Formats: sequence, C-alpha cells, structure tokens
Amino acid sequence: MRSWSSPEVPSIGGSAPGLRIHDSRTDALVTSDPDDVARLYVCGITPYDATHLGHAATYLAFDLLQRQWLDRDLDVVYTQNVTDVDDPLLERANDTGEDWTKLAERETRLFCDDMEALRMLAPHHYIGAVESIDLVVDLIERLGDSVYRVDDDLYFDVHADPGFGQVSGLDEDAMRAVYGERGGDPERPGKKHPLDCLLWQGPRDGEPSWESRLGPGRPGWHIECAAIALEHLGTDFDVQGGGSDLAFPHHEMSASEASVATGEPFAQAYMHAGMVALHGEKMSKSKGNLELVSRLRETGHDSMAIRLALLAHHYRSDWEWTDKAMVAAKQRLDIWRAAVQRTTTPPGDDVIAEIRAALADDLDAPAALAAVDRWVGADGVEDDGTEVARAIDSLLGVRL
Ligand SMILES: [Zn+2]
Repeated sequence: MRSWSSPEVPSIGGSAPGLRIHDSRTDALVTSDPDDVARLYVCGITPYDATHLGHAATYLAFDLLQRQWLDRDLDVVYTQNVTDVDDPLLERANDTGEDWTKLAERETRLFCDDMEALRMLAPHHYIGAVESIDLVVDLIERLGDSVYRVDDDLYFDVHADPGFGQVSGLDEDAMRAVYGERGGDPERPGKKHPLDCLLWQGPRDGEPSWESRLGPGRPGWHIECAAIALEHLGTDFDVQGGGSDLAFPHHEMSASEASVATGEPFAQAYMHAGMVALHGEKMSKSKGNLELVSRLRETGHDSMAIRLALLAHHYRSDWEWTDKAMVAAKQRLDIWRAAVQRTTTPPGDDVIAEIRAALADDLDAPAALAAVDRWVGADGVEDDGTEVARAIDSLLGVRL
C-alpha cells in the first residue's frame, strides 16, 4: 500500500544523550538502546473517517521517537498497518451506501495527506489487512491448540499465554469490565473464557469474506497487527506503539497471540500516547466531537502551527483541544521564524543540547519548546539561526 513522502531529516553535529522511554508494561522509564537497527510498529487507522487531532498526536509521538533514534545514527524500520476491513468500516459503508473498498481507499489517502502535511516520517512498510490475509492465516495455524471454533468463527484461548495481562497491567476483573465496550464479546455463548478473542470471523450475509485453509472469512483485528508486525519486524522488536486506548485489549491480545505462535516476546517496550479531548470528552468518532486535521488545513492553518500545537503537550498526557491552542501555536511559529532569520542570535550549541536532553527524557516536547522559547528571547551575538533551525527541523520536525 502506498503511504506518503517522508520529509528529509537533517543530521546535526554533536552527540545525543542516552534515550529513556516509558514502557507501559513495566510502568517505568526504560533505556532505549537498539543495536544498529531500531524496529517500530505503530497501529494504524481503520479508514472510515478523517484523521482527528487525537490520531495526529499519537502518530507525532512515534515520529519524535524515530527522530531520536535517527539522531543516534540508527537505522529505523517502521511498520504501520491499515485496518482496511473491519466492522466500523463496513457499518459506515452500509449506512452511506458507499462501496467499502472505495471508502477505505479515500480515507486512507486523506490520512496519508494529513501525515505528509504534518511532516510525519512515513512507514517503510505500510500494510493493509486485506493484503495480509495469507499472513494472518499462517499465523493462526501456528497457534495450534490455543485456537478453537465457535460456530464459523475461530477464537484464541488467551490463557495459552502465561504472560497474558502483562502488557496492560490489568487484572482479569478490570479487563472484563472494559472488554465489551472496546470491541470484545465477553458475553458470547460457546467461548471457553469471556476474555478469549476473535481470530477469524466466518462469513456473514452482505459482508466480504475470503477463502482460506481455515474456511471462508476475514481476519480479526488483533491477529492482523501481530501478523504484520512479525512479518516486517520479526519478534522482540523495539517498540509497539499506539494510543492508550489500545493497551487493552488490542496490544494485550496481539502480544499474546504472537508470543504463543513464536515462543518469543512480541516487543521489548510498549508505548502509549494520551487521549485528546474536545468539549470535555475524549475525541471519538462515535461521540462526534472531532477536530480534524484536514479541516484545520482547509481553513488555512499552517500545518507547522498544527504540529507545534500538538508538541505543546507531553505525548503521555491527556489534554483538551481548544481553539486557543491554534492561536498560541501560530504566534510561537511566527516568533521562531523571525528569530532564525536574524543575523545575530544567541549561540546555538546550548539550546540544541537542551532540546536533545528534553527529548531524550521520554520525548518531553514541551520542555524542548520551552528551551527554544528561551533562546528566542535571549540577546544575540554574532551568530545566525541556521544551526538551530536545522535542529528544530531534525528533532521536532518543524520546518521554520
Ligand atoms: Zn494494531
């Protein structure tokens, strides 16, 4: 699947401090020190509606992470999926009478355009669920005795994985309390355990299905990501990422399925971005309280100002979007742009070191922004802002 054009990441002089990131599984800061190649999987969209700022904030967190790895001269392999066949997509297509493949294609393109405008690094492997059906079938077959049938559907026995529950850190009561509202089916009769999850959904009237060795059907969401990640990154890759609402059940289930199939850990660390609210509630399609990246762009907002507005919040925090955020970000962007054009600016070395130190500390973008603000406000000497502009581009992805 075609993604989008990646921006250039200029290299900057000097060296970066050690990188620490928050691992949700251990709820601790851990050192990220990959050998040569850093491998990242971030869960992609279900393309039935446009990219809202909550999505953009999540993808931005993992864009910053990659820029940290690149600043340490590592190669990065970044894989992202597109869940281009799933219940919400089919329901939307059914409601509007649009062909589901057309809807998926259009919304995927719009997402890619938004990502490109925001200068997000493009994935090296951008993979759809539909094109991964053979991979999913292979992986389900590797699950052996942990697979069982309920009517025409296949389920995964989550207790086949002794580590089940570790990714989210939830106990079973807590998991059961939220499973139903997060796409699970704890009440379905015939399951061995309420938390067991769907691997392969048999054919339904009016829905697409594919012939396979498992019988006709389509892939479940969790096994889709497990199959795509294992194929393109291998086991025990560096970071599995996504929004905090994916920790359970999605990341929990994918990790258990992958580790039962391979006998190896799925990922070394699990990173989760906070949720962005609008009008007092988490932005969500179902509630209709969305601010779309495409709408902001259409109404003339500079995409670098949108990026700065998102960078003003730490990736792990939950926060609320207001129109004031855009005004403040535009003001900051204008001030920064004017500052790097000056012929006399304060020396760049210290501020570049401060930006690096902030981002090395679990991607603390607000602290990096504050460092640039201080530099902008300080008295100039015989220096220009070229190096600082280059570092802001490289590390924060903001082109001035
Ligand atoms: Zn996923």
